[in-house]
Amino acid sequence: MSDLLKLSLDEVTTKLKAKEVSATELAKDALAACQAAQPALNAFTAFDADKTLAMAAASDEKLAKGEGGLIEGAPIAIKDLFAVEGVSTTASSNILKDFKPTYESSVTSQLWDNGGVFLCKTSMDEFAMGSSNETANTGPVNNPWKGANGEMLTPGGSSGGSAAAVAADLCFGATGTDTGGSIRQPAAFTGTVGVKATYGRTSRWGTIAFASSLDHPGPFAKTVKDSAILLQTMSGHDPKDSTSLPNEVPNFVAACGQSVKGLKIGVPKEYRVDGMPEEIEKAWQQGIEWLKAAGCEIVDITLPHTKYALPAYYIVAPAEASSNLARYDGMRYGLREEGEDLTAVYENTRAAGFGHEVQRRIMIGTYVLSAGYYDAYYLRAQKVRTRILEDFDRAFQTVDAILTPSAPSAAFALGSKSDDPIAMYLNDVFTVTANLAGVPAMSVPAGTDKDGLPLGLQIITRALDEETMFKVGHAIEDAAGFNAKPEKWW
Ligand code: GLN
Repeated sequence: MSDLLKLSLDEVTTKLKAKEVSATELAKDALAACQAAQPALNAFTAFDADKTLAMAAASDEKLAKGEGGLIEGAPIAIKDLFAVEGVSTTASSNILKDFKPTYESSVTSQLWDNGGVFLCKTSMDEFAMGSSNETANTGPVNNPWKGANGEMLTPGGSSGGSAAAVAADLCFGATGTDTGGSIRQPAAFTGTVGVKATYGRTSRWGTIAFASSLDHPGPFAKTVKDSAILLQTMSGHDPKDSTSLPNEVPNFVAACGQSVKGLKIGVPKEYRVDGMPEEIEKAWQQGIEWLKAAGCEIVDITLPHTKYALPAYYIVAPAEASSNLARYDGMRYGLREEGEDLTAVYENTRAAGFGHEVQRRIMIGTYVLSAGYYDAYYLRAQKVRTRILEDFDRAFQTVDAILTPSAPSAAFALGSKSDDPIAMYLNDVFTVTANLAGVPAMSVPAGTDKDGLPLGLQIITRALDEETMFKVGHAIEDAAGFNAKPEKWW
Protein backbone atom coordinates (compact mmCIF):
# COMPACT_ATOMS: atom_id res chain seq x y z
CA MET A 1 0.00 0.00 0.00
CA SER A 2 1.34 3.41 -0.86
CA ASP A 3 1.88 5.85 1.97
CA LEU A 4 -0.44 8.26 0.21
CA LEU A 5 -3.41 6.35 1.59
CA LYS A 6 -2.26 7.10 5.11
CA LEU A 7 -2.83 10.81 4.59
CA SER A 8 -5.91 12.57 5.89
CA LEU A 9 -8.52 13.90 3.47
CA ASP A 10 -7.36 17.43 4.23
CA GLU A 11 -3.74 16.53 3.48
CA VAL A 12 -4.45 14.60 0.30
CA THR A 13 -6.70 17.29 -1.20
CA THR A 14 -3.90 19.82 -0.60
CA LYS A 15 -1.51 17.54 -2.47
CA LEU A 16 -4.02 17.05 -5.28
CA LYS A 17 -4.46 20.80 -5.67
CA ALA A 18 -0.67 21.26 -5.69
CA LYS A 19 -0.52 18.51 -8.38
CA GLU A 20 1.91 16.52 -6.27
CA VAL A 21 -0.34 13.55 -6.85
CA SER A 22 -3.02 12.83 -9.44
CA ALA A 23 -6.55 11.68 -8.72
CA THR A 24 -6.01 8.75 -11.10
CA GLU A 25 -2.92 7.54 -9.24
CA LEU A 26 -4.76 7.84 -5.96
CA ALA A 27 -7.84 6.01 -7.27
CA LYS A 28 -5.71 3.16 -8.59
CA ASP A 29 -3.87 2.89 -5.27
CA ALA A 30 -7.09 2.91 -3.29
CA LEU A 31 -8.79 0.33 -5.54
CA ALA A 32 -5.80 -1.98 -5.27
CA ALA A 33 -5.60 -1.57 -1.49
CA CYS A 34 -9.34 -2.27 -1.05
CA GLN A 35 -9.23 -5.34 -3.28
CA ALA A 36 -6.15 -6.66 -1.49
CA ALA A 37 -7.81 -6.17 1.91
CA GLN A 38 -11.17 -7.66 0.91
CA PRO A 39 -10.39 -11.35 1.64
CA ALA A 40 -9.30 -10.44 5.18
CA LEU A 41 -11.72 -7.66 6.11
CA ASN A 42 -14.76 -8.51 3.96
CA ALA A 43 -15.70 -4.84 4.19
CA PHE A 44 -16.88 -4.29 0.61
CA THR A 45 -19.96 -5.29 -1.36
CA ALA A 46 -19.24 -3.80 -4.79
CA PHE A 47 -16.63 -2.08 -6.91
CA ASP A 48 -16.93 -0.41 -10.29
CA ALA A 49 -13.35 0.31 -11.31
CA ASP A 50 -14.41 1.87 -14.64
CA LYS A 51 -16.62 4.35 -12.85
CA THR A 52 -13.92 5.11 -10.28
CA LEU A 53 -11.25 5.72 -12.90
CA ALA A 54 -13.58 7.82 -15.08
CA MET A 55 -14.45 10.02 -12.10
CA ALA A 56 -10.78 10.32 -11.17
CA ALA A 57 -9.87 11.31 -14.75
CA ALA A 58 -12.59 13.99 -14.67
CA SER A 59 -11.13 15.27 -11.39
CA ASP A 60 -7.66 15.40 -12.90
CA GLU A 61 -8.97 17.53 -15.75
CA LYS A 62 -10.49 19.98 -13.31
CA LEU A 63 -7.42 20.03 -11.11
CA ALA A 64 -5.22 20.70 -14.12
CA LYS A 65 -7.23 23.86 -14.76
CA GLY A 66 -6.97 24.90 -11.13
CA GLU A 67 -10.65 24.10 -10.64
CA GLY A 68 -12.48 21.57 -8.51
CA GLY A 69 -14.54 21.21 -5.34
CA LEU A 70 -13.75 20.85 -1.68
CA ILE A 71 -12.77 17.18 -1.95
CA GLU A 72 -11.74 17.09 -5.61
CA GLY A 73 -10.07 13.79 -6.50
CA ALA A 74 -10.45 12.04 -3.13
CA PRO A 75 -11.71 8.41 -3.21
CA ILE A 76 -14.70 7.94 -0.90
CA ALA A 77 -16.32 4.65 0.21
CA ILE A 78 -20.12 4.47 0.28
CA LYS A 79 -22.27 2.45 2.65
CA ASP A 80 -24.41 0.05 0.65
CA LEU A 81 -27.55 1.86 1.83
CA PHE A 82 -26.93 4.81 -0.53
CA ALA A 83 -28.15 4.51 -4.11
CA VAL A 84 -25.25 4.98 -6.51
CA GLU A 85 -26.42 5.08 -10.11
CA GLY A 86 -25.64 1.90 -11.99
CA VAL A 87 -23.85 0.28 -9.06
CA SER A 88 -25.20 -2.64 -7.04
CA THR A 89 -27.06 -1.26 -3.98
CA THR A 90 -28.32 -4.02 -1.73
CA ALA A 91 -28.54 -2.80 1.91
CA SER A 92 -26.59 -6.05 2.48
CA SER A 93 -29.84 -7.94 1.95
CA ASN A 94 -30.75 -10.82 -0.34
CA ILE A 95 -34.04 -9.14 -1.10
CA LEU A 96 -32.16 -6.41 -3.00
CA LYS A 97 -29.62 -8.70 -4.58
CA ASP A 98 -28.95 -7.57 -8.14
CA PHE A 99 -30.62 -4.18 -7.56
CA LYS A 100 -28.87 -1.43 -9.50
CA PRO A 101 -30.53 1.93 -9.01
CA THR A 102 -31.08 4.18 -12.01
CA TYR A 103 -30.70 7.23 -9.77
CA GLU A 104 -28.21 8.72 -7.34
CA SER A 105 -28.85 9.51 -3.66
CA SER A 106 -28.71 13.21 -2.80
CA VAL A 107 -25.82 12.77 -0.37
CA THR A 108 -23.65 10.92 -2.89
CA SER A 109 -24.57 13.42 -5.65
CA GLN A 110 -23.35 16.19 -3.38
CA LEU A 111 -20.13 14.31 -2.66
CA TRP A 112 -19.51 13.90 -6.39
CA ASP A 113 -20.48 17.54 -7.08
CA ASN A 114 -17.77 18.50 -4.61
CA GLY A 115 -15.20 16.38 -6.41
CA GLY A 116 -15.39 13.10 -4.47
CA VAL A 117 -14.48 9.96 -6.43
CA PHE A 118 -16.66 6.88 -5.94
CA LEU A 119 -14.44 4.07 -4.64
CA CYS A 120 -16.69 1.19 -3.55
CA LYS A 121 -19.78 0.13 -1.65
CA THR A 122 -19.31 -1.00 1.94
CA SER A 123 -20.92 -3.82 3.87
CA MET A 124 -23.41 -3.15 6.66
CA ASP A 125 -25.89 -4.91 8.89
CA GLU A 126 -28.85 -5.90 6.74
CA PHE A 127 -31.06 -2.82 6.25
CA ALA A 128 -28.88 -1.08 8.90
CA MET A 129 -30.37 -3.22 11.68
CA GLY A 130 -27.61 -4.24 14.04
CA SER A 131 -24.57 -3.16 15.99
CA SER A 132 -21.93 -5.60 14.78
CA ASN A 133 -22.20 -5.94 10.99
CA GLU A 134 -22.91 -9.63 11.48
CA THR A 135 -26.32 -9.59 9.81
CA ALA A 136 -24.94 -8.65 6.37
CA ASN A 137 -25.91 -11.20 3.70
CA THR A 138 -22.23 -11.33 2.70
CA GLY A 139 -21.08 -12.28 6.19
CA PRO A 140 -19.44 -10.31 8.98
CA VAL A 141 -16.86 -7.58 8.48
CA ASN A 142 -13.64 -8.00 10.44
CA ASN A 143 -12.40 -5.05 12.43
CA PRO A 144 -8.84 -4.11 11.38
CA TRP A 145 -8.17 -4.03 15.13
CA LYS A 146 -7.74 -7.52 16.58
CA GLY A 147 -8.30 -8.61 20.18
CA ALA A 148 -5.50 -9.13 22.72
CA ASN A 149 -5.26 -12.81 21.76
CA GLY A 150 -5.55 -12.21 18.07
CA GLU A 151 -9.29 -12.87 17.97
CA MET A 152 -11.42 -11.25 15.28
CA LEU A 153 -13.50 -8.35 16.51
CA THR A 154 -16.58 -6.68 15.15
CA PRO A 155 -16.06 -3.21 13.67
CA GLY A 156 -19.46 -2.31 15.14
CA GLY A 157 -22.55 -1.67 13.10
CA SER A 158 -24.50 -1.09 11.20
CA SER A 159 -21.96 0.92 9.15
CA GLY A 160 -19.14 -1.55 9.91
CA GLY A 161 -17.69 -1.75 6.39
CA SER A 162 -17.29 2.03 6.16
CA ALA A 163 -15.68 2.22 9.60
CA ALA A 164 -13.26 -0.62 8.79
CA ALA A 165 -12.33 0.97 5.45
CA VAL A 166 -11.45 4.29 7.07
CA ALA A 167 -9.61 2.67 9.98
CA ALA A 168 -7.51 0.53 7.62
CA ASP A 169 -6.57 3.58 5.49
CA LEU A 170 -8.30 2.19 2.42
CA CYS A 171 -10.11 5.46 1.59
CA PHE A 172 -10.16 9.11 2.65
CA GLY A 173 -13.62 9.07 4.12
CA ALA A 174 -16.83 7.09 3.96
CA THR A 175 -20.55 7.55 4.31
CA GLY A 176 -22.67 5.95 6.98
CA THR A 177 -26.18 6.24 8.32
CA ASP A 178 -27.03 6.59 11.98
CA THR A 179 -30.51 5.57 13.10
CA GLY A 180 -29.59 4.64 16.66
CA GLY A 181 -25.81 4.86 16.67
CA SER A 182 -24.68 3.19 13.46
CA ILE A 183 -22.06 5.83 12.72
CA ARG A 184 -20.88 6.70 16.23
CA GLN A 185 -20.58 3.16 17.66
CA PRO A 186 -18.53 1.74 14.73
CA ALA A 187 -16.40 4.91 14.81
CA ALA A 188 -15.70 4.27 18.49
CA PHE A 189 -14.88 0.59 17.78
CA THR A 190 -12.40 1.41 15.02
CA GLY A 191 -10.64 4.56 16.25
CA THR A 192 -12.25 6.76 13.62
CA VAL A 193 -14.37 9.91 13.79
CA GLY A 194 -18.10 9.52 13.14
CA VAL A 195 -20.69 12.28 12.86
CA LYS A 196 -24.45 12.43 12.93
CA ALA A 197 -25.66 15.99 12.28
CA THR A 198 -29.01 17.54 13.22
CA TYR A 199 -31.94 15.54 11.81
CA GLY A 200 -32.67 16.90 8.34
CA ARG A 201 -29.26 18.53 7.86
CA THR A 202 -28.32 15.78 5.39
CA SER A 203 -30.89 14.53 2.92
CA ARG A 204 -32.31 11.02 3.18
CA TRP A 205 -33.37 10.97 -0.46
CA GLY A 206 -31.99 7.91 -2.25
CA THR A 207 -30.86 6.34 1.01
CA ILE A 208 -32.69 3.07 1.60
CA ALA A 209 -35.07 3.77 4.48
CA PHE A 210 -34.86 1.99 7.84
CA ALA A 211 -36.70 4.26 10.33
CA SER A 212 -37.38 7.54 8.55
CA SER A 213 -37.77 9.79 11.61
CA LEU A 214 -34.47 8.52 13.03
CA ASP A 215 -32.27 8.01 9.94
CA HIS A 216 -29.31 10.40 9.67
CA PRO A 217 -26.76 10.07 6.83
CA GLY A 218 -23.29 11.25 7.90
CA PRO A 219 -19.54 10.79 7.48
CA PHE A 220 -16.72 8.61 8.82
CA ALA A 221 -13.30 10.24 8.74
CA LYS A 222 -9.75 9.95 10.01
CA THR A 223 -9.79 13.32 11.77
CA VAL A 224 -12.32 15.77 13.14
CA LYS A 225 -11.46 18.31 10.44
CA ASP A 226 -11.94 15.67 7.73
CA SER A 227 -15.35 14.84 9.20
CA ALA A 228 -16.28 18.54 9.08
CA ILE A 229 -15.16 18.77 5.43
CA LEU A 230 -17.24 15.72 4.53
CA LEU A 231 -20.31 16.90 6.43
CA GLN A 232 -19.95 20.28 4.73
CA THR A 233 -20.26 18.63 1.32
CA MET A 234 -23.10 16.32 2.42
CA SER A 235 -25.33 18.97 4.04
CA GLY A 236 -27.93 21.38 2.72
CA HIS A 237 -31.54 21.71 1.77
CA ASP A 238 -32.92 19.08 -0.59
CA PRO A 239 -36.39 19.69 -2.02
CA LYS A 240 -36.65 15.94 -2.71
CA ASP A 241 -36.69 15.14 1.04
CA SER A 242 -39.69 16.65 2.83
CA THR A 243 -37.86 16.56 6.17
CA SER A 244 -34.72 18.25 4.83
CA LEU A 245 -33.90 21.48 6.68
CA PRO A 246 -34.05 24.72 4.71
CA ASN A 247 -31.47 26.35 7.02
CA GLU A 248 -28.21 27.79 5.79
CA VAL A 249 -25.27 25.41 6.35
CA PRO A 250 -22.67 26.99 8.65
CA ASN A 251 -18.93 26.67 8.05
CA PHE A 252 -18.21 23.46 9.95
CA VAL A 253 -14.58 23.39 8.83
CA ALA A 254 -13.90 26.84 10.27
CA ALA A 255 -15.24 25.70 13.64
CA CYS A 256 -12.48 23.10 13.96
CA GLY A 257 -9.66 24.51 16.01
CA GLN A 258 -11.64 27.42 17.47
CA SER A 259 -11.25 27.95 21.19
CA VAL A 260 -13.55 26.14 23.58
CA LYS A 261 -12.71 28.49 26.41
CA GLY A 262 -15.74 29.40 28.46
CA LEU A 263 -17.97 26.68 26.98
CA LYS A 264 -20.14 24.87 29.49
CA ILE A 265 -19.92 21.09 29.17
CA GLY A 266 -22.63 18.94 30.71
CA VAL A 267 -21.84 15.55 32.20
CA PRO A 268 -25.06 13.52 32.59
CA LYS A 269 -25.11 11.15 35.52
CA GLU A 270 -27.53 8.79 33.76
CA TYR A 271 -24.79 7.71 31.34
CA ARG A 272 -22.95 5.93 34.13
CA VAL A 273 -24.50 2.50 33.53
CA ASP A 274 -24.16 -0.72 35.51
CA GLY A 275 -21.48 -3.07 34.33
CA MET A 276 -19.67 -0.44 32.27
CA PRO A 277 -15.95 -1.26 32.12
CA GLU A 278 -13.79 0.93 34.33
CA GLU A 279 -11.73 1.95 31.35
CA ILE A 280 -14.72 3.61 29.71
CA GLU A 281 -15.33 5.56 32.89
CA LYS A 282 -11.63 6.49 32.95
CA ALA A 283 -11.67 7.69 29.33
CA TRP A 284 -14.74 9.78 30.12
CA GLN A 285 -13.04 11.30 33.17
CA GLN A 286 -9.98 11.99 31.07
CA GLY A 287 -12.14 13.80 28.51
CA ILE A 288 -13.61 15.94 31.28
CA GLU A 289 -10.10 16.85 32.48
CA TRP A 290 -8.96 17.74 28.95
CA LEU A 291 -11.89 20.07 28.42
CA LYS A 292 -11.37 21.63 31.85
CA ALA A 293 -7.74 22.26 30.96
CA ALA A 294 -8.87 23.87 27.69
CA GLY A 295 -10.94 26.38 29.65
CA CYS A 296 -14.37 24.73 29.67
CA GLU A 297 -16.62 24.78 32.67
CA ILE A 298 -17.86 21.32 33.64
CA VAL A 299 -21.46 21.09 34.85
CA ASP A 300 -23.16 18.01 36.30
CA ILE A 301 -26.49 17.60 34.57
CA THR A 302 -29.39 15.20 34.58
CA LEU A 303 -31.21 13.70 31.60
CA PRO A 304 -33.79 11.83 33.67
CA HIS A 305 -35.58 9.95 30.89
CA THR A 306 -32.42 8.36 29.48
CA LYS A 307 -33.32 4.94 30.86
CA TYR A 308 -36.45 4.84 28.73
CA ALA A 309 -34.63 5.73 25.52
CA LEU A 310 -33.52 2.26 24.49
CA PRO A 311 -36.95 0.60 24.95
CA ALA A 312 -38.62 3.53 23.16
CA TYR A 313 -36.12 3.30 20.30
CA TYR A 314 -36.71 -0.44 19.91
CA ILE A 315 -40.43 0.28 19.47
CA VAL A 316 -40.28 3.34 17.22
CA ALA A 317 -37.49 2.03 14.94
CA PRO A 318 -39.12 -1.37 14.22
CA ALA A 319 -42.53 0.30 13.79
CA GLU A 320 -41.18 2.58 11.08
CA ALA A 321 -39.11 -0.23 9.60
CA SER A 322 -42.14 -2.52 9.29
CA SER A 323 -43.87 0.17 7.27
CA ASN A 324 -40.80 1.11 5.17
CA LEU A 325 -39.98 -2.49 4.34
CA ALA A 326 -43.49 -3.26 3.15
CA ARG A 327 -42.36 -2.16 -0.33
CA TYR A 328 -40.18 -5.25 -0.77
CA ASP A 329 -42.86 -7.49 -2.13
CA GLY A 330 -41.14 -9.20 -5.04
CA MET A 331 -42.94 -7.00 -7.54
CA ARG A 332 -40.86 -3.88 -7.81
CA TYR A 333 -37.28 -4.54 -6.77
CA GLY A 334 -34.80 -7.32 -6.36
CA LEU A 335 -35.73 -10.84 -5.43
CA ARG A 336 -38.92 -12.62 -6.44
CA GLU A 337 -39.84 -16.10 -5.24
CA GLU A 338 -42.72 -17.64 -7.14
CA GLY A 339 -45.86 -18.95 -5.42
CA GLU A 340 -49.35 -20.21 -6.12
CA ASP A 341 -51.00 -16.84 -5.82
CA LEU A 342 -50.08 -13.25 -5.07
CA THR A 343 -50.03 -13.71 -1.31
CA ALA A 344 -47.78 -16.73 -1.64
CA VAL A 345 -45.38 -14.71 -3.83
CA TYR A 346 -45.21 -12.01 -1.16
CA GLU A 347 -44.70 -14.52 1.61
CA ASN A 348 -42.13 -16.62 -0.18
CA THR A 349 -40.19 -13.59 -1.36
CA ARG A 350 -40.06 -11.96 2.07
CA ALA A 351 -39.26 -15.24 3.84
CA ALA A 352 -36.38 -15.93 1.47
CA GLY A 353 -35.17 -12.37 1.07
CA PHE A 354 -35.05 -11.03 4.63
CA GLY A 355 -32.65 -12.32 7.27
CA HIS A 356 -33.67 -13.19 10.83
CA GLU A 357 -33.00 -9.82 12.45
CA VAL A 358 -34.95 -7.97 9.78
CA GLN A 359 -37.85 -10.42 10.16
CA ARG A 360 -37.74 -9.93 13.93
CA ARG A 361 -37.93 -6.14 13.52
CA ILE A 362 -40.84 -6.39 11.06
CA MET A 363 -42.73 -8.60 13.50
CA ILE A 364 -42.07 -6.30 16.47
CA GLY A 365 -43.01 -3.31 14.34
CA THR A 366 -46.31 -4.69 13.09
CA TYR A 367 -47.14 -5.87 16.61
CA VAL A 368 -46.62 -2.49 18.27
CA LEU A 369 -48.63 -0.78 15.54
CA SER A 370 -51.50 -3.23 15.59
CA ALA A 371 -54.96 -2.31 16.90
CA GLY A 372 -55.06 -2.86 20.63
CA TYR A 373 -51.30 -2.46 21.11
CA TYR A 374 -50.77 0.85 19.36
CA ASP A 375 -51.66 2.92 22.44
CA ALA A 376 -49.81 0.69 24.88
CA TYR A 377 -46.55 0.58 22.93
CA TYR A 378 -46.17 2.90 19.97
CA LEU A 379 -48.00 5.91 21.38
CA ARG A 380 -46.27 5.53 24.72
CA ALA A 381 -42.87 5.30 23.03
CA GLN A 382 -43.64 8.52 21.15
CA LYS A 383 -44.46 10.20 24.46
CA VAL A 384 -41.14 9.01 25.87
CA ARG A 385 -39.48 10.48 22.82
CA THR A 386 -40.95 13.89 23.64
CA ARG A 387 -39.69 13.58 27.22
CA ILE A 388 -36.19 12.82 25.96
CA LEU A 389 -36.28 15.86 23.71
CA GLU A 390 -37.41 17.96 26.69
CA ASP A 391 -34.51 16.57 28.78
CA PHE A 392 -32.07 17.84 26.15
CA ASP A 393 -33.87 21.19 25.82
CA ARG A 394 -33.63 21.70 29.55
CA ALA A 395 -29.97 20.71 29.67
CA PHE A 396 -29.07 23.00 26.78
CA GLN A 397 -30.50 25.96 28.68
CA THR A 398 -27.45 25.70 30.93
CA VAL A 399 -24.77 23.89 28.90
CA ASP A 400 -23.36 24.24 25.37
CA ALA A 401 -22.39 20.61 24.85
CA ILE A 402 -22.73 17.24 26.56
CA LEU A 403 -19.86 14.79 26.94
CA THR A 404 -20.47 11.03 27.31
CA PRO A 405 -18.81 7.77 26.27
CA SER A 406 -19.82 6.69 22.75
CA ALA A 407 -20.41 3.03 23.58
CA PRO A 408 -20.51 0.95 26.76
CA SER A 409 -17.54 -1.22 25.70
CA ALA A 410 -14.67 -1.45 23.25
CA ALA A 411 -15.08 -3.63 20.14
CA PHE A 412 -16.24 -7.12 21.11
CA ALA A 413 -15.43 -10.50 19.58
CA LEU A 414 -17.34 -11.63 16.52
CA GLY A 415 -20.10 -14.02 17.50
CA SER A 416 -20.07 -13.06 21.18
CA LYS A 417 -23.47 -11.32 21.09
CA SER A 418 -25.06 -12.52 17.89
CA ASP A 419 -27.37 -15.00 19.64
CA ASP A 420 -28.62 -12.49 22.17
CA PRO A 421 -30.61 -9.60 20.64
CA ILE A 422 -30.99 -7.80 23.98
CA ALA A 423 -27.22 -7.81 24.64
CA MET A 424 -26.77 -6.50 21.11
CA TYR A 425 -29.40 -3.77 21.58
CA LEU A 426 -27.66 -2.61 24.80
CA ASN A 427 -24.75 -1.40 22.68
CA ASP A 428 -26.85 1.55 21.63
CA VAL A 429 -27.59 2.77 25.14
CA PHE A 430 -25.55 6.01 24.77
CA THR A 431 -26.34 6.77 21.16
CA VAL A 432 -30.10 6.33 20.63
CA THR A 433 -31.04 9.40 22.69
CA ALA A 434 -29.55 11.80 20.12
CA ASN A 435 -31.51 10.09 17.32
CA LEU A 436 -34.77 10.25 19.24
CA ALA A 437 -34.15 13.98 19.87
CA GLY A 438 -32.64 14.71 16.44
CA VAL A 439 -29.70 16.62 17.95
CA PRO A 440 -26.13 16.52 16.54
CA ALA A 441 -23.66 14.06 18.04
CA MET A 442 -20.23 12.77 17.14
CA SER A 443 -17.74 10.17 18.32
CA VAL A 444 -14.06 11.08 18.61
CA PRO A 445 -11.27 8.60 19.43
CA ALA A 446 -10.06 9.38 22.94
CA GLY A 447 -7.59 6.65 23.80
CA THR A 448 -7.20 2.90 24.08
CA ASP A 449 -8.08 0.27 26.66
CA LYS A 450 -5.74 -2.25 28.29
CA ASP A 451 -5.84 -4.41 25.15
CA GLY A 452 -4.88 -1.45 23.01
CA LEU A 453 -8.38 -1.13 21.51
CA PRO A 454 -9.78 2.30 20.69
CA LEU A 455 -12.38 4.02 22.87
CA GLY A 456 -14.56 6.90 21.75
CA LEU A 457 -16.09 9.90 23.46
CA GLN A 458 -19.40 11.36 22.32
CA ILE A 459 -20.17 15.06 22.07
CA ILE A 460 -23.83 16.09 21.80
CA THR A 461 -24.97 19.66 21.12
CA ARG A 462 -28.24 21.53 20.58
CA ALA A 463 -30.08 21.17 17.29
CA LEU A 464 -28.40 23.11 14.44
CA ASP A 465 -25.27 23.76 16.52
CA GLU A 466 -22.83 21.40 14.83
CA GLU A 467 -20.21 24.14 15.08
CA THR A 468 -19.91 23.78 18.86
CA MET A 469 -19.80 20.00 18.41
CA PHE A 470 -16.85 20.32 16.02
CA LYS A 471 -15.07 22.80 18.31
CA VAL A 472 -15.34 20.45 21.28
CA GLY A 473 -14.54 17.39 19.15
CA HIS A 474 -11.43 19.08 17.85
CA ALA A 475 -10.35 20.04 21.38
CA ILE A 476 -10.71 16.40 22.49
CA GLU A 477 -8.77 15.21 19.44
CA ASP A 478 -6.01 17.72 20.15
CA ALA A 479 -5.71 16.75 23.79
CA ALA A 480 -5.97 13.00 23.15
CA GLY A 481 -3.32 13.04 20.44
CA PHE A 482 -4.78 9.70 19.39
CA ASN A 483 -2.55 8.24 16.70
CA ALA A 484 -2.78 4.52 17.42
CA LYS A 485 -3.28 2.38 14.33
CA PRO A 486 -4.14 -1.29 14.02
CA GLU A 487 -1.16 -3.44 13.11
CA LYS A 488 -1.52 -4.36 9.44
CA TRP A 489 -2.51 -8.02 8.92
CA TRP A 490 -4.90 -7.71 5.96
N1 GLN B 1 -27.91 -0.75 16.40
C1 GLN B 1 -29.13 -0.03 16.19
C2 GLN B 1 -30.17 -0.94 15.60
O1 GLN B 1 -29.91 -2.07 15.46
C3 GLN B 1 -28.90 1.18 15.36
C4 GLN B 1 -28.74 0.90 13.93
C5 GLN B 1 -28.55 2.13 13.13
O2 GLN B 1 -28.20 3.18 13.64
N2 GLN B 1 -28.79 1.99 11.85
O3 GLN B 1 -31.24 -0.54 15.30
